[in-house]
Amino acid sequence: MKFVSTRGQAGSVSFSEAVAQGLAPDGGLYLPFEFPDITHFLSDWEKMSYSELCFSFFRLFATDIKEDILREIVEDAYSRFSHNEIAPIISLEENLKVLELFHGPTLAFKDFALQLLGNLYEAQIQRSGRKLTILGATSGDTGAAAIAGLLGKKGVTVFILFPDGKVSPLQEMQMTCTESENVFPLAIEGTFDDAQHAVKEIFADLDFKKKVGLSAVNSINLARILAQSVYYLFAWLKLEEEDRSNTTFVVPTGNFGNVFAGWILTKMNLPIKGFQVATNQNDVLHRLFKYGQYSLGEFSQSLAPSMDIQVASNFERLLYFILDGDTQKLTQIMAIFAKDGKYCFEDFKVDGFTSSSVCDDEIPEIIQNIQNKYNYLVDPHTACAFKDLNVSEKYLILATAHPAKFPNVYEKALLPKPKSAILEKLKDKKSLKFSVGSSADAIRSFIEDNIS
Ligand SMILES: *Cc1c(COP(=O)(O)O)cnc(C)c1O
Repeated sequence: MKFVSTRGQAGSVSFSEAVAQGLAPDGGLYLPFEFPDITHFLSDWEKMSYSELCFSFFRLFATDIKEDILREIVEDAYSRFSHNEIAPIISLEENLKVLELFHGPTLAFKDFALQLLGNLYEAQIQRSGRKLTILGATSGDTGAAAIAGLLGKKGVTVFILFPDGKVSPLQEMQMTCTESENVFPLAIEGTFDDAQHAVKEIFADLDFKKKVGLSAVNSINLARILAQSVYYLFAWLKLEEEDRSNTTFVVPTGNFGNVFAGWILTKMNLPIKGFQVATNQNDVLHRLFKYGQYSLGEFSQSLAPSMDIQVASNFERLLYFILDGDTQKLTQIMAIFAKDGKYCFEDFKVDGFTSSSVCDDEIPEIIQNIQNKYNYLVDPHTACAFKDLNVSEKYLILATAHPAKFPNVYEKALLPKPKSAILEKLKDKKSLKFSVGSSADAIRSFIEDNIS
């Protein structure tokens, strides 16, 4: 299987190469050249455990990895999840179910992809003998999940930038209390955007990139998308047969990686009714699906911080399909967007998507209502999914984080703060972070001084 860039100016690459590169050299995002039809596998896949299903799915894409190695990579990735079903489905009422994606090591859905990605990197280093340096910026969850996925991996050194004082105390502990030698959490003066900006500048420095073997763990990485497709498939197979093609997946959305991962299954002919893109008050995608205008929003810090974004990077992948693979047109649109901060589509219509948006004032109230009605506690990101649902339709809501990760919202919802044993244990560990300026130069020299 070959992978191509959305911008059409980079050669096609193997799975491992696409994973190692993250972003394609022409600035585009990688996609499979073609999607396999999975319908004839479904009756076999129905009986499989989560990791068996994940292996069988990845085998269709990761054709350059030996089967026994791939099987080990996948089995190990899901061995640190605390629930034996990995992604259990909870029924709130007949038409309303929740897919819990927070039983991984850092209690957010990002573990599904990053536990796997860490193992893919390690296998690649063993094969090629080339060491890797991982650099990323985080507003909290990605950094924690990336660090947990790469902890102690041989040949990998991890540098994660976060805005000092602007991530939740628990998220900071998840990044800084690892007691691991290959992990460097860098507390940057400034905002998440400053951190992100420095990371982009460093990735554009191709000499440096080559010199230190730089790779990215953010959600533009294709392996993350494919790893996330698996839980949609797993959940779909667990639904009653008559519900499968009339259940809508509701997805708390920021960068559009998660919901895109579900949508690509429809390209493999899985009959899914549709996806509801649930945003917080940073509603760039809601505005897109509603009015056909893709425009930079004003960044606004919210109670669901992992969905606080201005641009949804993975939208570029959907755009590729909307434009029927016209990479020239896509490059044009992205250039206009980069210059003007907006692009208006004439008759923007993609089948299978609806959207909603929730402002901060509504979140505590939604949490409280769900607790009262179903005796079920959701985190503030998942809460955003409970908006604009139609009582006569069937929904499966993706619960993206464990409530204990975002304890501060519950006071506003007049509920006790939830706790998690995993997070409590962190409090006994030694915390270590490095204060670094937010300039690309300062970060580059810190990396050079600390790679082994
Ligand atoms: C990252 C994250 C999201 C947003 O996911 P995207 O793939 O960026 O759309 C939603 N909820 C939580 C808890 C997250 O950590």
